[in-house]
Amino acid sequence: MYGLTPEDLELQARARGFTDELIAHEQYAEEHAGELPADVGHRLEARAVELGLTATNIPAELGGRGCTTLQQVLVQEQGGRVTNALAWCLTTPPGWWAPVANEHQRETYLVPTIEGRREGAYAITEEYAGSDVSDLRSTATRDGDEYVLNGEKWHVTSFNTCDHVFFQAVLTTGIHAGEQAMFVVDSDTPGIRVVRTPAYSHTFAHHHPIVAFEDVRVPASHLIGSEEDGMSFVYEWFRYERLMIGARCLGAAERLVDEMQAFAAQRRVGSEYLVDKQLVQGMLADSLTELFAARAMVYEVARSLDRQPAVDLKIAHAQCSMVKLYVSEMAGRVADRAVQVFGGRGYMRENVAERFYRELRVERIWEGASEVQRAIIAAQLAKRGRAALV
Ligand SMILES: Cc1cc2nc3c(=O)[nH]c(=O)nc-3n(C[C@H](O)[C@H](O)[C@H](O)COP(=O)(O)OP(=O)(O)OC[C@H]3O[C@@H](n4cnc5c(N)ncnc54)[C@H](O)[C@@H]3O)c2cc1C
Repeated sequence: MYGLTPEDLELQARARGFTDELIAHEQYAEEHAGELPADVGHRLEARAVELGLTATNIPAELGGRGCTTLQQVLVQEQGGRVTNALAWCLTTPPGWWAPVANEHQRETYLVPTIEGRREGAYAITEEYAGSDVSDLRSTATRDGDEYVLNGEKWHVTSFNTCDHVFFQAVLTTGIHAGEQAMFVVDSDTPGIRVVRTPAYSHTFAHHHPIVAFEDVRVPASHLIGSEEDGMSFVYEWFRYERLMIGARCLGAAERLVDEMQAFAAQRRVGSEYLVDKQLVQGMLADSLTELFAARAMVYEVARSLDRQPAVDLKIAHAQCSMVKLYVSEMAGRVADRAVQVFGGRGYMRENVAERFYRELRVERIWEGASEVQRAIIAAQLAKRGRAALV
């Protein structure tokens, strides 16, 4: 089905077997603030590396798996079947970094990250710059052989587990003053402090604190690419991550359909099983159909990125937005139906539908909210016409 090659199917099965192992730890994580016992967590992280399920997006010559985009989707899709971010051990280092990393960055950060020995976090969003990242107030000022960084970043995912941060800021001096640049910064550099760590809807071991950068000094070698490149990395990251959000939402929807169906088949209400009640059948049928449509869409976009010559970048950008918009909203609808099918059990935190209901909500917000995706799609439709996009 879906025209997958024997290699694709083998990788998919390997990822599925591993994520089945992760699923066994979900409830423990939910009951322990998202944390697993340290030895279990480390064992699972090492196993993800050993099974070749990490760095799927990095070329083999840099130590990555050199997978096709479709294969990357297949792995992340399986990861999406797991709650509590336990599948975040299927790490994908920043693919956009590899072509522009200088030797220091490659040896100190990128290669160890590919090997699973280091972890980065993204510090882009600010209090007054979320959907519109062109409005950043953080600054980077050149001072001799260093840059001085200042700003306050919001929702810095994994700051509590990472050892370095990608910091995006507006340059204050030089010919690129006013443009955005990106820096890599060790998270224990003097001047970096956690302002506070708010609680979020989901129960993840990875926190999203507000982090202040106050006169943080980094060597000029920590500038990524050229001074004017900051926004292009963000756009490349968005394209990649929006497609992978689509992949993970497919996995979530598949798991929910399976769990709903299994529950409905054994749950008797009155003289009938739930699965025999037509209103429940409607919820199952709608969920399965939307999953089928979404999967065809995600696999097609992944294939178009793998084809030579590669699809035009602007078209790819719009198609990744369509994936993010449709698949995240589809998974949200499926989770809502799943809670309904489970009834009172679906409202209990020990139930997978309840956890997905909370966890999937953010898929419609981060990496560009649904409204932002609609704005991108509509702008591209106006500019390029329907035939170029669909
Ligand atoms: C759990 C979590 C983790 C995150 N992790 C990170 C991270 O690691 N690094 C990082 O940099 N950021 C991170 N973010 C930030 C995330 O990307 C932003 O929250 C998101 O881009 C939306 O920005 P905002 O929250 O400032 O919402 P706003 O920009 O204030 O927008 C609020 C709402 O307004 C609507 N809206 C916005 N623009 C438009 C428009 N043009 N038309 C119509 N409606 C519009 C949308 O519905 C939007 O949801 C994270 C967020 C969350 C919740």
